[in-house]
Amino acid sequence: MEKIRSVRGMHDLLPDRAPLWQRVEDEARALFERYGFREIRTPIVEHTELFRRSIGEVTDIVEKEMYTFLDRNGDSLTLRPEGTAGVVRACEEGGLLNQVQRLWYRGPMFRHERPQKGRLRQFHQIGAEVFGLAGPDIDAELLALTARLWRALGIADRVRLEINTLGGAADRARYRETLVAWLGERAERLDPDSRRRLSTNPLRILDSKDPGTQALLAGAPRLLDFLDAEDRAHFEALCTLLDELGVPFRVNERLVRGLDYYTRTVFEWTTDALGAQGTVCAGGRYDGLVAQLGGRPTPAVGFALGVERVVLLLEEGGQDAQLPPVDAYLAGVPEAGGRLLVLAEWLRDRLPGLRLMTHCGGGSFKSQLKKADRSGARFALLVGPEELSTSTVTLKPLRSDEPQRTLPVEAVVAALASHLPHAGERHGGPSGRRTAV
Ligand code: ATP
Ligand code: MG
Repeated sequence: MEKIRSVRGMHDLLPDRAPLWQRVEDEARALFERYGFREIRTPIVEHTELFRRSIGEVTDIVEKEMYTFLDRNGDSLTLRPEGTAGVVRACEEGGLLNQVQRLWYRGPMFRHERPQKGRLRQFHQIGAEVFGLAGPDIDAELLALTARLWRALGIADRVRLEINTLGGAADRARYRETLVAWLGERAERLDPDSRRRLSTNPLRILDSKDPGTQALLAGAPRLLDFLDAEDRAHFEALCTLLDELGVPFRVNERLVRGLDYYTRTVFEWTTDALGAQGTVCAGGRYDGLVAQLGGRPTPAVGFALGVERVVLLLEEGGQDAQLPPVDAYLAGVPEAGGRLLVLAEWLRDRLPGLRLMTHCGGGSFKSQLKKADRSGARFALLVGPEELSTSTVTLKPLRSDEPQRTLPVEAVVAALASHLPHAGERHGGPSGRRTAV
């Protein structure tokens, strides 16, 4: 029979690669906690209307990338293509927006795009959203946080920051009109995509990759000239703060984000190492979105990074994370029965950092020893007939020539603790990772 495969553009994370993902997730989570952010989780499915109203009708996402379906009640639902809309909805619904909120999230997102390296149909984001702070200080702190994340992951030398300001909605509307008029007179020099955008989403023309369009844009009206004094001051203050923080950046006047809801600050962390999928992390300010979704006007700023792209960067840099093998493998003669599992739990109570695999599934003592060896464990813990009758365990080093020793169970705890310093720690393990409680 033909085997059923995974859906195109939706990948499994197999255990060999899981440690790299965990590394990114653990570093991000630890950083968010250090900056006072709290986690929020929202459903993967939302009412389609939420994304239409927030992301905007004429964006790539809403026009052609959403996974939208009717559920059995006939309601139009959508697999979330990004995290911000759901977080805003959840905060509003949960009554969180009457005070400042610093939040982070992680999880899968879905967009029906053409799959390629670093571009998937189910991909994963880690993101942050801050509500209730209007100043450039929080914009700068978010960027300092992301810069710190790249340093922690060892990829700071391969990403760079570009920032821009889009001004407020009114300035942008005035600018859009001027730009459309100016480009409209020169429409024949635009690439077809940009020509189409002239009537749908003209600002996106600014980040067209077409050389002819780029050349034309060099002489076009600039958004910067349409900003009011406050927008300008916000942007200048952000630049100063980034300088003071030592976060290098480049102002890219052509940087416009794909979503409608951004105001003022927008930014992208990009890399040359991943071909066309160069944006690793992106975000900005969206002061109008909460009100647009029916809430009280609330300033907001956030970002999202693509986990797949960050993991690719780690791999391209030759980084590999492997979970170390277990420390010990516990095996026993069939007569030991349930006592093997009981002993394993007893050991885990006393050595919370010990990574211990218990033999399951029976079989001869000899075949169990083979499994112990193949597990990569440093020690086998053996319970034979002799050990059963004397309440002892044999500690057999598997990776050295040291002799095996038969010890009372308490002495086994002490011996493991002295050979494996991490075994006694609650959070730890040799990888430094937190172990699940
Ligand atoms: P791109 O220009 O690459 O399409 P985007 O502007 O659509 O990105 P955002 O909506 O800002 O991306 O999402 C933030 C981040 O999520 C991106 O910078 C990227 O790292 C990641 N991302 C977006 N779409 C995908 C995808 N289809 N597959 C993998 N990662 C993605
Ligand atoms: Mg995209």
